[in-house]
Amino acid sequence: MARHIACLTFDFDAMSGFISRGMTSPSPISRGEFGANVGAQRILDLLKKYDVQGSWYIPGHTLETYPDQCRRVFDAGHEVGHHGWTHVSPANLTREKEEEGLIRANEQIKKLTGQYARGYRSPSWDLSVHSVELLLKHGFTYDSSMMGDDYTPYRVRQGDVIELEKPAVFGQTTKLVEMPVSWSLDDYPHFEFVRTSTTILPGNMNAHHVLQNWVDDFMYLRDHLEWGVITYTFHPFVIGRGHRMIVLEKLIRTLKDCGAVFMTLENAAAEYDRHAPF
Ligand SMILES: [Zn+2]
Repeated sequence: MARHIACLTFDFDAMSGFISRGMTSPSPISRGEFGANVGAQRILDLLKKYDVQGSWYIPGHTLETYPDQCRRVFDAGHEVGHHGWTHVSPANLTREKEEEGLIRANEQIKKLTGQYARGYRSPSWDLSVHSVELLLKHGFTYDSSMMGDDYTPYRVRQGDVIELEKPAVFGQTTKLVEMPVSWSLDDYPHFEFVRTSTTILPGNMNAHHVLQNWVDDFMYLRDHLEWGVITYTFHPFVIGRGHRMIVLEKLIRTLKDCGAVFMTLENAAAEYDRHAPF
């Protein structure tokens, strides 16, 4: 059963990422709004054209601010996963605040889809030391925030002890499946120009050059592994710009021509679970 699975995932942050960094003035808010009011619909139209089901990780803030847009995502048959309530990374939250956000957004997801989320992706890809325990407690089957492999899902450990001057002590493996990600397969660092008081993320890369990397990563999977999953991460306010939408369409067409099977991350995680039961 040689299969090379491609998962297109969309972190539907809208304005929540800007708010979590304190950027609440009208211009940064409008950058996020572009994703909700323009980018998301362009993506939905494109996915429909190629009959591709994606996975959308939607913060509670977006679910409560843009219920109609989120309804359109769900009605189009895409997976709705959990992406926090605020977009503050869990590593910067207390256990109590992290769980509060987990529950609050999950209630919104249940209201939209009829069930709690099975998949979780942490805002800014930074899990806390409590995240795995909380995800298992709240019935999640997979996480998609870590980078310990590229094409092969794996089981998440809990209770590692990591200290500066001591060797790492690894905790126990849990049944939670990790669907690994990579910043190189994420549109944000390549494209988004971000200026803060301490850093500048230049972004604005030539989208065709980035496309070449994204295609080559699939080619490596296809030529070297019998079975595997490649997970791409996009943001509607980033990929939704014209020249990037052209590249997203080229990516879909090229992957299809090269034998990729598209599916949601939830279905890919379930397939891994059947391959390698816990
Ligand atoms: Zn996000």
